[in-house]
Amino acid sequence: MYGKITNFIKELYPHQEFVPLHAPCFSGNEKKYLNDCIDSTYVSSVGQYVDRFEEQIAAYTKAAKAVVCVNGTNALHMSLLLAGVEKDDEVITQALTFIATCNAIHYIGAHPVFIDVDKDTMGLSPHALKEWLVHHAEVKGGICYNKRSQRKIKACVPMHTFGHPVHLNELLEVCREYAIELVEDAAESIGSLYKGQHTGTFGKIGVLSFNGNKTITTGGGGMLLFMDEELAKQAKHLTTQAKVPHRWEFIHDEIGYNYRMPNINAALGCAQLENLDKYIANKRETALQYQEFFKHIPDIHFFSEPEGCRSNYWLNAVLLKDKSAREDFLQYTNDHRVMTRPVWGLMNKSDMFKNAETDALVNTQWFEERVVNIPSSVRTALL
Ligand SMILES: *Cc1c(COP(=O)(O)O)cnc(C)c1O
Repeated sequence: MYGKITNFIKELYPHQEFVPLHAPCFSGNEKKYLNDCIDSTYVSSVGQYVDRFEEQIAAYTKAAKAVVCVNGTNALHMSLLLAGVEKDDEVITQALTFIATCNAIHYIGAHPVFIDVDKDTMGLSPHALKEWLVHHAEVKGGICYNKRSQRKIKACVPMHTFGHPVHLNELLEVCREYAIELVEDAAESIGSLYKGQHTGTFGKIGVLSFNGNKTITTGGGGMLLFMDEELAKQAKHLTTQAKVPHRWEFIHDEIGYNYRMPNINAALGCAQLENLDKYIANKRETALQYQEFFKHIPDIHFFSEPEGCRSNYWLNAVLLKDKSAREDFLQYTNDHRVMTRPVWGLMNKSDMFKNAETDALVNTQWFEERVVNIPSSVRTALL
């Protein structure tokens, strides 16, 4: 049966010695725009592509403003600072995520609290969140406190796992009730829509990543999405060493960061963005083919987009029967030059976050034992 699966994947991605999980695709103006940068000498943190990339991402996502960052991890760091998270605060997130989400929380000296995910999204569960808050939190003077630790719970960071949107409306409602800011880790979900609206534009701030393995890439890069233009101005200021604009004086009015994306990376981003809709249509077609194929494979379940959502299907995922079936599947596919990977190890099991507060994480652990990502690159032959 595993032979049948690897053969199917090799047919999707023909003429390849080795089928990677997600390779970038450069089918447009990438080289042209990169040459422009070099010819103009504007290769660094100032340049027309930086402004253009921000404007085009804002237009694409329908955010009021977008602000570039060097990568998604520092965009997350920035987003938490801008959401008012301070040292010794708590930030609620999911244990089923990439380490960057938790590292960003830790950079501020804040503490993650891990809440369970939903079975239909693999992302933070509004129901589990509410349940935990009812028992562990209280709002006093408009501030949410963890009753046991007495720390402030400032923000909640759901992550749209593999591009599948979480239940945003329900999460927003719970966060509003408990005076917690919602910040979306939309690093994996560019082009993913929740009820027709782009992920990353529901919370106070949304974060995108353009790392090399994401749906579109700038080499390395990230973006902050805002509905509040004032907050976007603050973000620009903070990511630019907090420099007060002046024709010649160096005036810095707070501790700032050098988190700006260079023009050459933004140039790559502008070219990639021109083809994003084509890439997503292509990836969705692949997902559809996987979905049909796995209907006929016993004991392996293909994970489909949640109801009411359009997923970018950044990484396709299948669920194996149990942990030992998962190990066999990983062994066979990787032995046969088809790259597959288990979902990340849970954050609450890492050395750095093993003492973090959690709920029972029932679904989270269920997924950890079963989820495997399968090849998901854009199929260039179909472009
Ligand atoms: C990719 C990713 C990030 C950001 O990663 P960078 O490599 O720093 O751009 C953050 N969170 C999640 C869930 C991611 O998948």
